[in-house]
This record gives sequence, structure tokens and C-alpha cells, in this order.
Amino acid sequence: MSFNDIKGNKNITERMSRAIRNRNISHAYLLEGDSTTDKIGLAENFAKAILCENTGAGDSCEFCQSCSKVNHGNHEDIIYIKAEGNSIKDESIEELQIKIRNKPFAGDRTVVIVQDADTMTLRAQNRLLKTLEEPAPGTVLILLSENVENLTETIRSRCITYKLNPVEISDYKDIISGAIQILDMILEGAPFYKISKKLVEYTTDRPTAQSFLNAFESWCRDLAISEYDTEGRLLFQAERLEEIRKRAKLYSGNFLENAIIAIEEARNDLNRNLNINYTLKNLTLKILDNMGIQKEDN
Ligand SMILES: [Zn+2]
Repeated sequence: MSFNDIKGNKNITERMSRAIRNRNISHAYLLEGDSTTDKIGLAENFAKAILCENTGAGDSCEFCQSCSKVNHGNHEDIIYIKAEGNSIKDESIEELQIKIRNKPFAGDRTVVIVQDADTMTLRAQNRLLKTLEEPAPGTVLILLSENVENLTETIRSRCITYKLNPVEISDYKDIISGAIQILDMILEGAPFYKISKKLVEYTTDRPTAQSFLNAFESWCRDLAISEYDTEGRLLFQAERLEEIRKRAKLYSGNFLENAIIAIEEARNDLNRNLNINYTLKNLTLKILDNMGIQKEDN
């Protein structure tokens, strides 16, 4: 996944891309956005594009060794700092300062991604400030934050701040119709790779994937309960009661129940930050298994 694949926040990805093209990468960035925004996804894409061996176009090439390492989550020149318990402690920043004194392993840059930067204790913030004031050569810090008010003014003033807009989630009806199409494909015995391809259309990033799973689940629930809820009082899509009752006849109650369980598991996997493609592939397989359909994996 490169900048091109990121939905929304084009103004930010364009600025990141330009900084890389012009070799004008700052030593510190602050990505600010609420919980619906994919800050970590954007930060990782930025890191990948910065570290890419073919950065001429200002985006990751996706085929060099560096891009491949980032995609596999094992690039040695990306350092992640996370909260331990409720906060990022002074010791974590101290360890970081020791690490970035060393040269990068592969190229000439080290990228540090500080998740939940606003949970840094005041001591940790003051320590990090020293790094921001006298940056180690080649090091790029990317701080991610939901509440920048919790960061000291001196930290904020030393970072280039990008404020992320919540990703615009396409019309709910569109997502529901996607869910219906996918269930239809399963019913028709469509091959696995076709179903996966369809799923990917709705899941370009974490927030979109989450809302797709929500829609998918609410549709399966509607189908499952329509048999008992004859007036459609409990249905999410009550206005489609007739259609729902007709469609519900195509699936066994057991199938729908298992599908809902699989969707819930997929949602938990996404919350645990598992890879989006992996999670959805897994979901498709579970639903297909449940249907007893021969899989064709491509
Ligand atoms: Zn590359």
C-alpha cells in the first residue's frame, strides 16, 4: 500500500510525498487525529516512502528490499515507541536516545514512530525535547496523537503538524450493498479469490474495514432475526423487511450465526492491529468453510 492507495487526507499525503521528492524531510512530524483516523497506517506509509530505495517519485515503490521489509513488519530502521500501561515512560525515551546514536542498519535514515505520543509523562516529554532540539542526523520522528493538548507547547512547536480528517466513509447503503453482494457470491459458490477481491474494495484502510464489518454484521443479524421479528422492529434496515425476509430463506440460521461470530472475530483482530488483508482473508475462509464450499485459493 502506497500513498496512492490511501483514501482521504490527500493534502497530507501530497505534502509528505513532496517533502521526499524535494529531499526536504523534516526531523519531526506530529500526526494529529481522532480515534477514527488511521494515524499508524499513514505514519507507516510515510516511513516506507522515506526508506524506499527508489524514492524519486516521492512514494514507496513496493518492490525494493526496504519496502518489502516494511510490508512484512520487520524493517530494522523503524523504531516503534508505545505506551507501557497508560503512559510512555522516561526510560523508553532514554533507550530511544541511545539507539538513535547508532547509524541506521540499511540506509541512511532511521524513522521513529511514537504511538500515543500524548501519553508521554512530562519527564519523557522533556527528555524527548532534547532530541527534537538537537536531532540525530538522519532520524525522523513521527509522533501520533489524539490529544495534542497533552503535549507541551515546546514539543508541538518543534514538529510539523498534520491534522488528519476522519476518513469519509462511503454511504452506508453502498456498504450494505457490498455486504449483500459478498453473501450472494458465497451462495453462488464464487471462487475464493473473487470474494477476496470484492472485500478489498471496501477495506482500503482500518476505519473503512471496521465500518464494512459493522455493516456486514448488521445485515447478517437482520437476516437471522427476521424470521422471529415479523414486524421488523429490531432490524437495522427495517425499511427493507420484505427483501430481508425473502433473502433470509436462502441461509440456514446456523450459517448466519457462524458468520456473525466470524465477523466479530475479524473485528477483534483489526482492533488488535492485525494486518487488514490477512484478517479479511481469514474471515472469507471461515465463512466459506461454514458454507461447505470448495475453496480455490489463488
Ligand atoms: Zn521501495
